[in-house]
Amino acid sequence: MSKIKYIYNTETCKYEPVKVTPKKFLVNFFGFLLAASIMASGLIYVFHTNFTPLREIELSENNEVLKNQWDILNEHLTIADHKINQLQVRDDSIYRTILDILPLSPTTRNASIGGAERFSNLLSENLIAEDLIVSTYERVEKLRRKSYIQTLSYDDITKIEAEKEQMWAAQPAIQPIHNKELTRLHTTYGPRFHPILNIWRPHKGLDFTSPKGTPVYATGDAIVQRANYSKSYGFVVYLDHGYDYKTRYAHLFKFNVKKGQQVKRGDIIGYVGNTGVTEAPHLHYEILYKNNQINPIDFFHRDLSVEEYEKLINLTNDDAPALDAH
Ligand SMILES: [Zn+2]
Repeated sequence: MSKIKYIYNTETCKYEPVKVTPKKFLVNFFGFLLAASIMASGLIYVFHTNFTPLREIELSENNEVLKNQWDILNEHLTIADHKINQLQVRDDSIYRTILDILPLSPTTRNASIGGAERFSNLLSENLIAEDLIVSTYERVEKLRRKSYIQTLSYDDITKIEAEKEQMWAAQPAIQPIHNKELTRLHTTYGPRFHPILNIWRPHKGLDFTSPKGTPVYATGDAIVQRANYSKSYGFVVYLDHGYDYKTRYAHLFKFNVKKGQQVKRGDIIGYVGNTGVTEAPHLHYEILYKNNQINPIDFFHRDLSVEEYEKLINLTNDDAPALDAH
């Protein structure tokens, strides 16, 4: 039951009930609403100014964690980039140098990976840290590209190394007889006065003196091109090493290979003898490069150290006569 308000009427000298018109009621009602709204707004403002909502606190803490994780991620990317750069340097300046191949060009190494807009398109929303995200996308993509190029380079190196190993195994690189004491080399490469023919003529190989029956070795991996008897060479073996290299082993007592046979460096292919035009039992050894004889003295690097090579040169008499007619 609503209370009835009274007002004193000075004309009638009586208390009379206050009559509330609809207009006055509405004015009072909306006035109350306005005051209440102002008060509520003030309270909300004071609350937001002085207190942080729990949800906002939680989001802020998560944001800090994400920032730390982001920094750690970028540090890892920096370390990974540094490692890949080290691999590139090692690739170019060590592996490729050893194998005698050119380093990869900067153009190949730094092939374009596309612009930043490529990654902006990946973002479906207009994120606050868009630049940061795009730059990280770019860093990751550059790393992926560098890793891919490096992998291709290693594939190349592996393939070339296998080819080089095959070539190095094929090239003549040891002495054709056992000569650890370095005293077997009798006649060197160059012009000699021939004791049988009484004329000066080039000696196109090396003569190693050794007792009859001393084993003769293939000086590199090869295929037997010929193994036969020749009037001047006697029993002789021709080896084809590929890569434009061939070797000849003449005046053998006998050989134990046949045409077409594959031999490895160090395999016994025959034995020292005195067959053909010779003065004494010895091995006449030739190396041919592109079908021309060259000096074999420079092809003992798998057999002799630098010191042994120098000792061999010093122990050899360059004026010693040839023991044959080659
Ligand atoms: Zn000779």
